[in-house]
Amino acid sequence: MTEQLSLEPGLLDEIVQQTRPLLGKGKVADYIPALADVDPNKLGIAVTSIDGTTVGAGDYLEPFSVQSISKVFSLTNALMLYEEQEIWSRVGKEPSGHSFNSLVQVELERGIPRNPFINAGALVIADLLQSRLGAPKQRMLEVVRMMSGNNGICYDKQVADSEYQHSARNAAIAYLMKSFGNFHNDVDAVLRNYFHYCALKMSCADLSRAMLYLANRGQTLSGQQLVSATQTRQLNALLATSGLYDGAGEFAYRVGMPGKSGVGGGIIAVIPGLLSVCVWSPELDGHGNSLAGTALLERLCQALGRSIF
Ligand code: GLN
Repeated sequence: MTEQLSLEPGLLDEIVQQTRPLLGKGKVADYIPALADVDPNKLGIAVTSIDGTTVGAGDYLEPFSVQSISKVFSLTNALMLYEEQEIWSRVGKEPSGHSFNSLVQVELERGIPRNPFINAGALVIADLLQSRLGAPKQRMLEVVRMMSGNNGICYDKQVADSEYQHSARNAAIAYLMKSFGNFHNDVDAVLRNYFHYCALKMSCADLSRAMLYLANRGQTLSGQQLVSATQTRQLNALLATSGLYDGAGEFAYRVGMPGKSGVGGGIIAVIPGLLSVCVWSPELDGHGNSLAGTALLERLCQALGRSIF
């Protein structure tokens, strides 16, 4: 079931202006210098409707570090390569209630991460991709370029290298899973791929276009069936329950869309059958989710009078 999205002209500009006063209230991710240097005043939104039209406001054409938004691409890639059981025997489907880089549950739950959207889960997915793909980094680039229709998308080498130099926490998570037998490849090699995925540079326009398949029963902008309609519904269920880490409940309450955040300050979200959207503002709240970005999405849903609920 699809319907036509009608966005009032000027609506996106208006909600960007309304949200600007929130700039300065969050904190830019500073665990690597390459992210700490980002201009905190950036604010952008792009909306892609089911017919493929993209509109945006603010800094929506400027590429930024997608960070954990890449976890959606990774899981989608894994669904294209594996039987579902092969994935879900190694990673759960439950919200974590812990921070995105927590080790606690991995230890308590014997190496099986709660879901694919926290670091532990995404590392298992990266391990799965490594097992099946000859050139996992190149493959990821091909897929996101195809999904967004932008052949210029690249990795930010500086961010990827910087992540690798500060990889103690993620390495600890991966080795802990390996100790439980839930990590099959060389940790270092998988970490390098994972950090590259996080270091993809894409704009709000690129991301809202790439994520259209989540609103469009698994079909990309160019009409390619990436995953089935059922798998798309399942992906959206996981995004709604786990996409915003320990802030997922608050996000569902305020915004009401399946979504995924990254510490680069981006958030993607969808209303199935209607639209995909990406917002960007680098300052984060206490859960590591974009503070002004969440407010932008909240305003968009209010203006449209829509959410998935
Ligand atoms: N690169 C970050 C990490 O692995 C991604 C985390 C995030 O965006 N929440 O820690």
